Amino acid sequence: MAAKKDYYEVLGVDRNASEAEIKKAYRRLAKKYHPDMNPDNEEAEQKFKEVTEAYEVLNDAEKRAQYDQFGHAAFNGAGSGGFQGGFSDFDMNDIFGSMFGDMFGGGMGQRQRTGPMKGADVRTSIEIDFQEAAFGVEKEIEIIIGEQCTTCGGTGAKPGTKPQTCKHCNGTGQVRYNQNTLFGNMTSIRTCDVCHGEGTIITEPCNSCHGKGIVRNKKRIKINIPAGIDHGQSIRLQGKGEPGQRGGPYGDLLITVSIKPHTIFERQGYDVYCKIPITFVQAALGGKLQVPTLDGKVEYSIKEGTQTGTVFRLRGKGIPYLRNPKLRGDQYVTVIIDVPTKLNEEQRKKLQEFAQISGDDVHPQRKGFFDKVKDAFGDALS
Ligand SMILES: [Zn+2]
Ligand SMILES: [Zn+2]
Repeated sequence: MAAKKDYYEVLGVDRNASEAEIKKAYRRLAKKYHPDMNPDNEEAEQKFKEVTEAYEVLNDAEKRAQYDQFGHAAFNGAGSGGFQGGFSDFDMNDIFGSMFGDMFGGGMGQRQRTGPMKGADVRTSIEIDFQEAAFGVEKEIEIIIGEQCTTCGGTGAKPGTKPQTCKHCNGTGQVRYNQNTLFGNMTSIRTCDVCHGEGTIITEPCNSCHGKGIVRNKKRIKINIPAGIDHGQSIRLQGKGEPGQRGGPYGDLLITVSIKPHTIFERQGYDVYCKIPITFVQAALGGKLQVPTLDGKVEYSIKEGTQTGTVFRLRGKGIPYLRNPKLRGDQYVTVIIDVPTKLNEEQRKKLQEFAQISGDDVHPQRKGFFDKVKDAFGDALS
């Protein structure tokens, strides 16, 4: 973020400017950058905010004194009156209303008027198996969700009755009132607090929804989970969320998928990893292995003398790509040599024989170790 501009500079006034000069400058700039005059102009909106913020401080004798003494730092701390923190709650309409109410006339009213509003998005989650995530699955979930009340058709009024036009605002949802300000008599516009901006009042509420127009029901929803989805990803079902207001569209339903861990497979992106135990005889002699994959067992031949920790790749045996299920990741298999822990007499004898033929004594690893030391240091040790 760029350094905050000096408030006096923002308003283009002298540091000794009088209150009237500050007001005049603000009025001119606020009008110039007003969002109604600059629709969809982010730069103007930014300028408008800057100007308004500067005015809010310089227009207040106490805040101005603090600003003169400490600069922007005066409003950064928590105990300073918190202008900065409070800015987002600042009611723009208040100041537009009182400053420009009659200047902008109906335009202001149009902006403020409550129109159709999209319904809220609803979030939920679902747990599926590793295999289901890999190849996709159809699931059904049960959620409690708002639906338009069928008794009243969403109006909230008891069938046979109609919402009445609000007398307080004559159905506009807004109330104008006059206020004496520095600039004379100004018209201010506020949301009608009798009908809360709806313009209508329900005199006899619908019994099913208690006048809300929305009822909450348990609902079963089918979801098609696509192949390749990963843990933590969400599916968006458009229009399956809460109903909108005043004829607005439904919100969306967002389902976050979590994947149960698999007993042997692990996933990284679209690749699958697993470990497979083999006997040390298989490792020494090589041969065919039955390797589990997402598609069932496949045969894989390992070389004679395969070492523990060797990794081999099964091309295209991974997870289908979410955006293109014809493509698949790979499977990486790590070979782990399983050393037998319980030998019977015969096995022990054969292994000892094996050791002897190989030129090892019964403690082959000890001899091996000393051999290695000798190889490494040669005559230096003898
Ligand atoms: Zn109803
Ligand atoms: Zn009203």
